Amino acid sequence: MSDTTQISKSRHDGRAADQLRPVEFKNHVAPHATGSTLIEWGNTRVICAVMIEDTVPRWMKDQGVTGGWLTAEYSMLPYSTLQRKQRDISKGKIDGRSQEIQRLIGRALRACIDLEKVGQRTLWIDCDVLQADGGTRTAAITGSYVALGLAIQKLLSNGKISTNPLLSPVAAVSVGLVDETPCLDLNYVEDFAAGVDMNLVMNADGGWVEIQGTGEKGTFSTEQFNQMLAIGKNGLRQLFDLQTRALKQQP
Ligand code: UDP
Repeated sequence: MSDTTQISKSRHDGRAADQLRPVEFKNHVAPHATGSTLIEWGNTRVICAVMIEDTVPRWMKDQGVTGGWLTAEYSMLPYSTLQRKQRDISKGKIDGRSQEIQRLIGRALRACIDLEKVGQRTLWIDCDVLQADGGTRTAAITGSYVALGLAIQKLLSNGKISTNPLLSPVAAVSVGLVDETPCLDLNYVEDFAAGVDMNLVMNADGGWVEIQGTGEKGTFSTEQFNQMLAIGKNGLRQLFDLQTRALKQQP
């Protein structure tokens, strides 16, 4: 048990400060996708699916960039929230939050793959939130790595690629200050109340891919930042284990 756990008072869902919500992967939920999984992370559930196109974006051809490309789309289904969330298509434009999140997912997943080894292909990652209760972007990244791993297994087994392009696995988790206590993996109620909310993206070698942190209702000290990073890293290690197990699930 870490120091952080000892200083925490109990959270409203009974978790310790450095405890993740339960995480499970249900693979192959979208049979037409090359790889797919439903990540269930507490009450947050996201479908992550990978499809492959045998072409690359025009800008790559124009600029003579070799290899493949990976890009992501994120959306919250209308019934993922308590109040119906209007589809972007009905509004005629993608909302700013979704755009920010899908760019983050794309950057995070590009960090775990050698696109030269993918050949002239585009890997499309689609993340659709079935149920939102905080941490949808971190669930989308963590689940997308599993969906991507399943897709790559298929490409290797059907001989479309000869070498595994995956580098180090990537996962993400949120941390924050709730009542001044550093907490791991905020749900919606905590996210709403948090003075500081951060999203950590790391690879399994311990390399940081991205850190998004905002003192929304206050500031945070370097000591608090280091405490949040420490509990975040512990959570991420558990997530890498869960991803590895999910990728070994029998079809
Ligand atoms: N949320 C919502 N409707 C929205 C946006 C967010 O109900 O249009 C809720 C949802 O539970 C989400 C949480 O607010 O998970 C936190 O949203 P945030 O933008 O911080 O992203 P997330 O934590 O999901 O990555």
